[in-house]
Amino acid sequence: MEEFGYRGGELYCEGVALSEIARGVGTPAYVYSRAALEGAYRELDEAFSGLDHLVCFAVKANGNLAVLRTLASLGAGADIVSGGELYRAVRAGFDPKKIVFAGVGKTGEELTSGLGERILTFNVESAAELEQLNETAARYGKKARVSLRVNPDVDAESHPAISTGNEDSKFGVPLAEAAALADHAAGLRCVELVGVHQHIGSQMTRLDPLVNSLKKTTDLVAELKSRGHEIRYFNMGGGLGIRYNDENVPGPRELVEAARPYLESTGATIICEMGRYMAGNAGAMLTSVVYRKRSGHKSFLVADAGMNDLLRPSLYDAYHEIRALKEDTPPTTADLVGPVCESGDFLAQGRELPDAAEGDALAVMSAGAYGFAMSSNYNSRPRPAEVMVSGDRWAVVREREHNADLVKGELVPAFL
Ligand SMILES: *Cc1c(COP(=O)(O)O)cnc(C)c1O
Repeated sequence: MEEFGYRGGELYCEGVALSEIARGVGTPAYVYSRAALEGAYRELDEAFSGLDHLVCFAVKANGNLAVLRTLASLGAGADIVSGGELYRAVRAGFDPKKIVFAGVGKTGEELTSGLGERILTFNVESAAELEQLNETAARYGKKARVSLRVNPDVDAESHPAISTGNEDSKFGVPLAEAAALADHAAGLRCVELVGVHQHIGSQMTRLDPLVNSLKKTTDLVAELKSRGHEIRYFNMGGGLGIRYNDENVPGPRELVEAARPYLESTGATIICEMGRYMAGNAGAMLTSVVYRKRSGHKSFLVADAGMNDLLRPSLYDAYHEIRALKEDTPPTTADLVGPVCESGDFLAQGRELPDAAEGDALAVMSAGAYGFAMSSNYNSRPRPAEVMVSGDRWAVVREREHNADLVKGELVPAFL
């Protein structure tokens, strides 16, 4: 995360002081480093060298058009989970031949949009979806490329809310049923089985679960090939963890090193679809202290950003490092809380934090993935601005919402 660091006592993103951005666009605001996004993509791309591969970005982690354009320009593909993400990905300039579409509940309309764009593969998650895709493709005189998303029944050893590969999860086709479904797919006229897909969870900080999963799913690839299916793509999913605090996390190189024998055994083009790894540490959220207060035995810094702006602490009890914009700010022990009317509205609890004065801005680090993407207008709070930094330049890449945006599309009926 060298793109964010102190220089001359001031916190910078690349060549821009974050205080300049806080003054220019106000707070709360998300700030993304172009260089960090590019660096993470290149690190992944290089880790897979020697293997025929495609590094996709999981659009759900950060769908901002400028973020997507940055990665699309480097040749990245896109992993999408909705028609809305397809729209974003295409608008941002991703080559549809590099778009893969996962999700357990793709509607007929979403399948139609994907067929219209001629995306690389639909990652089919059930027998029912396979039938629906076959029918939809038939209606439009098309043939859909399909990868079967299998559920390998492994525990990703991550937070339960972001583990997706255990037996009782809603995701994917049970491994034991995959071969029969593949045989069935081969008999359908308007789908073409081209791949196998797995994705077992997010923020994985150990490689064993992934390796165990790859053992099972690459065995399946071998079985499918022996049954005469031509498996051209093997999608190993995303989920590589990042360092939020002091976690010791394996990087792309270690990931591919551990996975390489399995990946090679498939003889297929390897697809990975990382979201958090590419965007997480490429972003920070700026927020200002509105009030300081004491209540009982506790000290609070009340921020102008809350759970509607950055949900991860409230939702997963997630840790985000809090940095002062001025390096010499002394520490204090406090909670950094938001203005939202929920006790669960906090950004940091009972931690050593910068002893910021009222009006001072702070940086909530590692907020580039599942930050703005999970934001909402709860409490009728306009969502924050988003900014991208490139070298010593910066630009607003999403305007701060205004009150008028809050009621956009709402109608008061004539009978009132
Ligand atoms: C969310 C998701 C990803 C990305 O997960 P990260 O933890 O952000 O890397 C990849 N593939 C699928 C199918 C997903 O749903």
